[in-house]
Amino acid sequence: MKRYGLIGYPLKNSFSANYFNKKFADGNIDALYQNFALNNIEEFNALITEYIDLAGINVTIPYKQQIIPFLNHLDPIAQKINAVNTIKFKNNQLIGYNTDYWGFKKSILPLLKEWHQSALILGSGGAANAVKYVFDNLGIKYTTISRNPENGLTYEELDKSVLRAHQIIINCTPLGMFPNIEECPPIPYQHITNLHLVYDLIYLPDETLFLKNSRLNNAVTKNGLEMLAYQAEKAWQIWNE
Ligand code: NAP
Repeated sequence: MKRYGLIGYPLKNSFSANYFNKKFADGNIDALYQNFALNNIEEFNALITEYIDLAGINVTIPYKQQIIPFLNHLDPIAQKINAVNTIKFKNNQLIGYNTDYWGFKKSILPLLKEWHQSALILGSGGAANAVKYVFDNLGIKYTTISRNPENGLTYEELDKSVLRAHQIIINCTPLGMFPNIEECPPIPYQHITNLHLVYDLIYLPDETLFLKNSRLNNAVTKNGLEMLAYQAEKAWQIWNE
């Protein structure tokens, strides 16, 4: 039996375990997917020593960057994004990959229209880097919105002209994620129009306040659930190639 798992903390959401264990059951695959909540990344070495049958690991918040020094090799895309969410064990070597970019790209592509040329990316963490990698790839320009003015524009600088000049808005912050569902990024929603594509990487709740405010201003909206499924599918492909 092959063992797979997810490391992170506190691992409240069980999407990946449900997704993979259902896949194993449906496909008669002799494998198991487990959650491993690590109190700190130093526990990683003890984990892989204890479970020598581990065939692949997914990595989530807060370890997507902290895991990098523990790996033997980094896939070039993960290196560029500077975040790892998938680890493959190959000949006793640990290889880090990023599949978030893949999930994001596959899920947003069908929604892009010819007027979607410029994006606002809210937040500047690992997920924002994966989104930037995709936009670089697609030739879509972007501006980062951050609490730190050194990273781009601040939320206070967002006005009608900025929103009208950027018809894609991506939330890469944790604002609005369950259980803090009353929160949302502080942007001037009244300037969102039916030409906007508004995407939240958050998938719980289904419709965050960010998406609801945008939908009420007639934007096309999308949550992060499909991205999550696609990144898992890509991880499975990497583990099996
Ligand atoms: P992260 O590294 O912690 O970065 C989040 C960024 O959000 C930070 O860099 C920060 O940017 C901003 N931020 C944090 N707290 C904030 C606050 N209170 N107010 C305003 N901005 C704040 O997290 P991540 O790994 O990039 O993930 C971000 C979100 O994407 C999470 O909700 C995660 O669940 C989701 N995600 C979803 C998928 C999927 O498959 N759907 C995949 C990956 C991530 P500044 O300091 O620049 O303001």
